[in-house]
Amino acid sequence: MTTVIKHGHLIEPSAGISAPMDVLIEDGRVAKMGENLEGDETIDAAGCVVCPGLVDIHVHFREPGFESKETIASGSRAAAAGGFTTVVTMANTNPTIDNAGMLEFVNRRARETACIKIRPAATATKGMMGEEITEMAELKAVGAVAVTDDGKDIPSSWVMRRVFEYANMVDLPYLAHCEDHSLMDNGAMNEGYNSTRLGIPGLPKAMEEIMIERNARLAELTGARLHVQHITTARGIEILKIYKDRGVRITGEVTPHHFTLTDDAVLEFDADAKMNPPLREQEDVDALKRAIADGTVDCISTDHAPHTPTEKDVEFAEAPFGILGLETSLGLVLTELVEPGLITIEHAVKLMTSAPSDILGLEAGVLREGGPADIAIFDPKAEWVVEPARSASLSRNTPFGGKTLMGLVKTTLCDGEVVYAHDAGVRVC
Ligand SMILES: [Zn+2]
Ligand SMILES: [Zn+2]
Repeated sequence: MTTVIKHGHLIEPSAGISAPMDVLIEDGRVAKMGENLEGDETIDAAGCVVCPGLVDIHVHFREPGFESKETIASGSRAAAAGGFTTVVTMANTNPTIDNAGMLEFVNRRARETACIKIRPAATATKGMMGEEITEMAELKAVGAVAVTDDGKDIPSSWVMRRVFEYANMVDLPYLAHCEDHSLMDNGAMNEGYNSTRLGIPGLPKAMEEIMIERNARLAELTGARLHVQHITTARGIEILKIYKDRGVRITGEVTPHHFTLTDDAVLEFDADAKMNPPLREQEDVDALKRAIADGTVDCISTDHAPHTPTEKDVEFAEAPFGILGLETSLGLVLTELVEPGLITIEHAVKLMTSAPSDILGLEAGVLREGGPADIAIFDPKAEWVVEPARSASLSRNTPFGGKTLMGLVKTTLCDGEVVYAHDAGVRVC
């Protein structure tokens, strides 16, 4: 049994392909890429881009512990609907993923319930308490692709140094949520003109930049691999660039909401505009976009962070941090970056496939003959309106409800199986 994806425009960043090309799939693998291929079944991709299944190295699927927000099953359906076939799940669940047994639990739930590929990260310290270092060698042996205390940073520089040393020894990257928590002060949004106007305690940009700088210095000291998550400020980008230029093994990501929105979105007291790090100001948004375009930023990640409507439907100051991201990520990249001409569509695909995959050394984000048929098919010119009620996630917390986006995901295939088809709704394999 073979399937052929016909009449599409293939974009395969790692091989530098951007051309009209068919893809033939056999036994879940790419059998051939070329012109005029035939198969038993045909998927018509006329007018569409065909590319490797998207890769997101920063998502929160909330299982175990917070299954009313999201599960590995529901999160993977949301991912498939967004064109993703591989995601890296963060470890701040309850309990945290800080030992081999918990990591195997995630692997088992992924095997049993996920329709895409789940590559779990483990915590860097036990219980994310920032004190005792986890058994990273054991965690890696059962499949951890990175260590991270995402959700917070490691306050002690001494512990951070040991984490880098151990992670480097077992060759795992550290994914850093950069935040000097001692500057938190009940902050709920960016500290600036809008926070003063609204009377909401602010989160200063320095809080993030101090930790990017500290972590980068310690990565330089130890030679370890550092990936800076969700960079939001112009100065944060400058620090990333300085350490890259110094030859430090550092990479950085930006989320679609941080390059799309400013803290003006908070003016309506909308809790769906509340996340950590927070939405910043126009000069920061401009700097993020420039850094994406010039290659300083290595990849786009969503920080998909579901919270239930009940949790978000409270006063702004009380609401939890975080928003959904998987189903709107490609649309925001195409609408905000490609359509205005800031980056090419090939660059956009790279930022969401091979680039994030390369940071963690995942076997994902590429299409080659003999490799897994993990594929996204999207119409880059089709417009659609974000309807939170129709999200495949269990949560609804997006600030983009009602927004028109370009770039509609038509079909997502994982190991050659259709795991999402726009016209047929979501299927779980
Ligand atoms: Zn974070
Ligand atoms: Zn996160």
